[in-house]
Amino acid sequence: LPRLPVFEAIAGHSPQSTVVVHSNSGRRFQYGELLGDVRRVRNRLYEASKKSDLDGERIAFLVENSYDYVVIWLAILAAKAIAVPLSPAFPPPELQYILNHSEALLLLSSAKFSSKAQEVLKTELDVQPTFVQLEKFQGGGPHEHVELEEKSDPGAAGMMLYTSGTTNRPKGVLLPQSVMTAQARSLQQAWEYSPSDYLLHVLPLHHIHGTINAIFTPLFSGSTIEFMFPFNADAVWKRFASPFLTSGQRPDPSGPQPITFFTAVPTIYSRLLTTYKSLPSDLQRAARTAISPANLRLAISGSAALPTPIKRAWSDLSEGNVLLERYGMTEVGMAISCGLDVADRVDGSVGWPLPGVEARLVDVDTQAVIEPGAERDPATGRERVGEIQLRGPTIFAGYWRNPEATAKEFVDDGKNDGKGPWFKTGDVAVRRPAPEGAGQSTLPSQREWARGDMYFILGRRSADIIKSGGEKVSALEVEREMLALPQVAEVAVVAVPSGKWGQKVGAVVVLSKEYEGKGWSPLEMRRSLRDRLANYKIPQVLKIVEHIPRNAMGKINKKVLVKEVFRDEAS
Ligand code: ATP
Ligand code: MG
Repeated sequence: LPRLPVFEAIAGHSPQSTVVVHSNSGRRFQYGELLGDVRRVRNRLYEASKKSDLDGERIAFLVENSYDYVVIWLAILAAKAIAVPLSPAFPPPELQYILNHSEALLLLSSAKFSSKAQEVLKTELDVQPTFVQLEKFQGGGPHEHVELEEKSDPGAAGMMLYTSGTTNRPKGVLLPQSVMTAQARSLQQAWEYSPSDYLLHVLPLHHIHGTINAIFTPLFSGSTIEFMFPFNADAVWKRFASPFLTSGQRPDPSGPQPITFFTAVPTIYSRLLTTYKSLPSDLQRAARTAISPANLRLAISGSAALPTPIKRAWSDLSEGNVLLERYGMTEVGMAISCGLDVADRVDGSVGWPLPGVEARLVDVDTQAVIEPGAERDPATGRERVGEIQLRGPTIFAGYWRNPEATAKEFVDDGKNDGKGPWFKTGDVAVRRPAPEGAGQSTLPSQREWARGDMYFILGRRSADIIKSGGEKVSALEVEREMLALPQVAEVAVVAVPSGKWGQKVGAVVVLSKEYEGKGWSPLEMRRSLRDRLANYKIPQVLKIVEHIPRNAMGKINKKVLVKEVFRDEAS
């Protein structure tokens, strides 16, 4: 196998320690068997494709969250091909789109999804991939020593992920192996993954969150990954609680291990909090012990803005296990994160640029870089709102077969400092001084980056910045305030076209249980927000709905939502 940093790391971990656990069956796999399996599967890729060189070829795969997934993914990296993980939840047209767009040479599928794969292959595809059904791997076999002797090519593309498609058709994001490695190294330092970490994995595996944060970095660190997918709040609580059900006793070393690391999206935390209330009391007790800071070392939230009420409720339930919020995207991995010290998990903030990540804010009005110290406009006293731009070794190489988009999203500001162009994230933020007590961690892992002014995300430039009568309103800020009201269970704040104002602020609300039957008038809504928001930020239109549609990562497609909910509103 090639001397990839991730393979070198795996070869260095204790062979007996567990790498993957299947939650349902309890089946375990050890670090010592992983590279042997990777080598075997790589050979099968060459056989199936009848090629001796797979350099840069796209290999798509439809495999459940499992040891097999990890082996296939690594085997594709070992072949210097490009791994294109597909979501089994995608309907056939979506799969068809990705197969066409990526021009995959092979389509691998596990037995479970083979009929779905066959169905897609029957449709008209531009390039017909060779179909390979995977037989079950012989995991758990004797340890096999695998030499790492081939040269590796850090620039070789390793993975192609498709963006969530929240704002447009999903784009293929090319992540070279060197970028994947840099992302993992950055997270390893910032969040201190270690061999004693036991991660409960409940996320889909076709996004950066589920792959880099919750597989690749744990593999670098010798941690254990337990797959439990699809997410089910009851099952997750049972799993958290199981090592602690017999009170007063230390967890049985041969039974289920305590979860030390959990990473999820805000909607998952929200569902866990709701479900908790209907658990039997012994389970509740054990679950609270399981998520207390003494047992659950780190609980992370990201991929969408974390509502402060959810953060507070989780903290209350877990005796102070404050959720750590971070900001990232497919193109850049994780970019900005709060810190390990509890004081560094500041409400509403996503923290500081991670190790190796360079960030800047570019004023959305003037296009000038907002220099540190110039966060307020001296003339108006207002905070300056800027687009987040990023660069460094963790940033992607470009969009697949889309040079126009790639050219459009990178800016070279002419200052030739040799560090390359900046990537425009399309997200806007403000930078504020860290509150009292934050940004002063004494942990060596934090000192280098969790310092100085902190970032607060205002939302997407395209969908979350509402331009109403010359003012700019952040949808995320309004959502944050609305979520603090007892009437509101869920909310999406959107720009509604308006003849008079250009855009007006609209709110789509799911009422909380207590208010379900009672309703909520726009006037009452405006009154409840009067002390919380400046007048121009208070929504002018309100729609009560039963459900706000979100994708698997908890994201709302606001363009579609506005069209559906405010169809008759354009006035
Ligand atoms: P597309 O690019 O196809 O429209 P997408 O941007 O939703 O889809 P992702 O790359 O999965 O696809 O999501 C990245 C986006 O998620 C970021 O640009 C940002 O808007 C949002 N995001 C991630 N973390 C946070 C966070 N902590 N707070 C607010 N927004 C976040
Ligand atoms: Mg995006």
